Amino acid sequence: MLIDLHTHSTASDGTDSPAALVRAAREAGLDVVALTDHDTTVGWAQAAAAVPAGLTLVPGLELSCRWTPPNGERPTELHLLGYLVDPTHPGLVAAIDALRASRLGRAERMTSRMAADGLLVRWERVSELAGNASVGRPHIARTLVEAGVVGSVDEAFATLLRSGSPYHEPKQDLDALTGVRLVTAAGGVPVFAHPLARRRGRVVGDDAVLAMVEAGLAGLEVDHPDHAPEDREHLRRLAAELGLLVTGSSDYHGTNKRVRVGAGGLTSPAAYETLVDRATGSAPIAG
Ligand code: AMP
Ligand code: FE
Ligand code: FE
Ligand code: ZN
Repeated sequence: MLIDLHTHSTASDGTDSPAALVRAAREAGLDVVALTDHDTTVGWAQAAAAVPAGLTLVPGLELSCRWTPPNGERPTELHLLGYLVDPTHPGLVAAIDALRASRLGRAERMTSRMAADGLLVRWERVSELAGNASVGRPHIARTLVEAGVVGSVDEAFATLLRSGSPYHEPKQDLDALTGVRLVTAAGGVPVFAHPLARRRGRVVGDDAVLAMVEAGLAGLEVDHPDHAPEDREHLRRLAAELGLLVTGSSDYHGTNKRVRVGAGGLTSPAAYETLVDRATGSAPIAG
């Protein structure tokens, strides 16, 4: 069984439509794929309608969160996967609506500041490229590449779009403990996404994981392409100590990133079955 529990479609910052994504997952030989777009469940219906024979779709999402240490240190961004939630749960719907609204205002301001400085990037084009997706820096990056301002999406992230760039602005993220409780309240299973993906910026310590476990965290995404071998080992030990599920994924984003669907990490059938058994918000969809 090949199980990839974290992918993105054009409903957020991936480049495959939800239908193309489930077809690509089957073509890559996967048995199970989770669709986990940032702060939205809008891709679920299209993915569900296109699930090929032999593939099972796990509907999910990836919530933009931040951890604020109790000692008053500055907050750290983190991502929380929520599997098999009830997509109509009012609290969850309100939270992701607010997250997407914050993404929209922030992307427009970032783009306008670049345009005001003479960079050839227009908000209209970013907005057109994003469509009704959860807009993010990858959409701005692609617009910058298209306009010839930078040579690649990676270059855009390394320069104009990195946090610390004068054009960068943080999003209004959800408190991590609130996120864990909301996913649980919506009948879903909360899993901490790529907890030690250091390339993306600061990562949290084990204290944050402990607090999230107290709030109801069910698992850690251990096998992820952005995790170094020693970080995977640390997380695997932590998960064993705390009785948490261990998951793995590609975090596939289509051509926005180089990783292929099903590559870089997979989830064991045992962890997958436990995860499905815990969920009450929605069910996997078999093609
Ligand atoms: P945002 O959510 O708008 O802050 O943008 C962050 C998103 O950009 C993350 O979800 C990553 O998937 C994506 N990302 C980060 N670095 C890169 C990169 N070098 N190339 C493509 N996508 C990236
Ligand atoms: Fe992303
Ligand atoms: Fe993520
Ligand atoms: Zn992701």
